[in-house]
Amino acid sequence: MASVADLVEERAIRQLVGPEPYADGLALADSGAVRLVEFGPMTVVAEVADGSPEPRVELESLDGELAWRCECPEGVAGLGCRHLAATAIVIWRRSPARRGEQ
Ligand SMILES: [Zn+2]
Repeated sequence: MASVADLVEERAIRQLVGPEPYADGLALADSGAVRLVEFGPMTVVAEVADGSPEPRVELESLDGELAWRCECPEGVAGLGCRHLAATAIVIWRRSPARRGEQ
């Protein structure tokens, strides 16, 4: 079964959130703003130091698809946000088996 790390491939996330939130998310990930609260194969929860209160992001592998939630206005509206991108980038970087990359 696909783990969350399998579903956050860079190209997929870039497509999901769009170029601008992706660039913002990359900056957040690079600045160490993402704090992983829970890092499991099927569920990842993170808090992103971006404003107050810090938005909490949840990513879940559900039937081979990526399900996600974020507390920010974009996330609540169902739009891919920079927090989702930042968390996905951090997961991707920490993933032991980065498929498709060599
Ligand atoms: Zn968000």
